[in-house]
Parts: sequence; C-alpha cells; structure tokens
Amino acid sequence: MRASLSPARPAAILFDCDGVLADSEALAALVVSEELTELGWPVAPEACQHIFLGRAVPDMMPLIEQRVGRLPDDWPARMSRRLTERMARDVVPVPGALATVAALAEAGVTLACASNSSRAELAAKLGRLGLDSAFGGRVFSFEDVDRPKPHPDIYRAAARACGAAPEDCVVVEDSLPGIRAGRAAGCRVLALVWDMPEALLRAEGAEPFRAMAELPGLLGLEPLEVA
Ligand SMILES: [Mg+2]
Repeated sequence: MRASLSPARPAAILFDCDGVLADSEALAALVVSEELTELGWPVAPEACQHIFLGRAVPDMMPLIEQRVGRLPDDWPARMSRRLTERMARDVVPVPGALATVAALAEAGVTLACASNSSRAELAAKLGRLGLDSAFGGRVFSFEDVDRPKPHPDIYRAAARACGAAPEDCVVVEDSLPGIRAGRAAGCRVLALVWDMPEALLRAEGAEPFRAMAELPGLLGLEPLEVA
C-alpha cells in the first residue's frame, strides 16, 4: 500500500537498529551472557539484557571489569566479532519493521539508521534483514562519531546526512540511552514499548507506541495494514 503525503510528515526518520529493526536484544544478551560466564561472571541472559540494553560494547567494559578485573585491550574487538557472527547468522526482524521501512521509503521519506553497534555488527544485522540498501548509505555506528548514545552525536550525524535539521527529524528508539541521545540531539523521539513502563519512556521525553505498523500513522502518513 502506498502511504500518502502529509504536511505533518518529518524531514527524515532516524531508526535505531536493535529492538526497532532487528529483534536482536535477546540474542545479544545470550551472546554476552556466554562471554561473561567464560570470563568468570555467570550472568543470565535476562540480567545481561537489563544491565547492558542499548550500551555500546566499550561502555560495557567498566561494569564487567568491576566483577572480573582488567580485560585485555582487544576485548571490545573480540566481543564485537562474536556478536557480529551470531547476528549475521541468527537475527530476525522486529514484527512489522520491514513492511514499515518499505512503505516509508515508497512514500519518499528520507531514512537513516543510527546504532550503538560496531560497524561490522550493524552491517551484519542489516544484511541479514535485507535492509543493506534501505538507507542509501545513511547508516551510522558508534564508530562513526566521537561519542556513542546517550550522547547526541550519532543522531546529529544522521540528521546531517539526511540534509535535515534535528528538530525536523523523528527518531525511532526503544532504549533509555537511545531516547536520551535523540532528545539531546533535539529530535522528536518515538519509543517502541517492549517491557519498559510507558511512564518511564514518557518521563525521558519519548512518545511510546506498541507496534512498528503504527509508525506511519504516528508520522502523519497513511497507516499500514500489516499485523
Ligand atoms: Mg535499541
């Protein structure tokens, strides 16, 4: 279905990847749990998801080092490789995400992707989901900017790549670091609700929504007819 244009529509839509496009958080938590257990800190995947949701790999290090002592300098690269291999093989899309991205692209909305993943891991996920060319090269990893989320750098860079002011962009997020990054950049932030209380998402300045298929309607475009 073709989404119709509306004067309310944003100049660009800046998508987070994990938990918004890729249903990757549980898989990432499983891989991190395996790694931490091998390092001598046995943590269940559910606890890893709670502790590390939305954090870039280098930002995980201080918490882990408090438990297991100093990590080798190549630990972030090793962890990133491990995540990349699993994502390339096993990650699945968030329900409705692929149809939503396709409909927005068809409606002529400029799209970008901005993630706290490494470049290689992000490319692996987008490739496995068939989204490698969906963003016209406007894909940003934490490695492309000075500071990862929750700093605003990555969403500012994504807005710039879209030729849009951050104030005219909508960020689609699911984690607190991501919401804070989008708000700090000056963007309107829509937050897909997984298991975090809506009140908490609102308190961070985000507008909660419950399914990716709702997104076009929230952006002033014709709603999608997908499950
Ligand atoms: Mg996320």
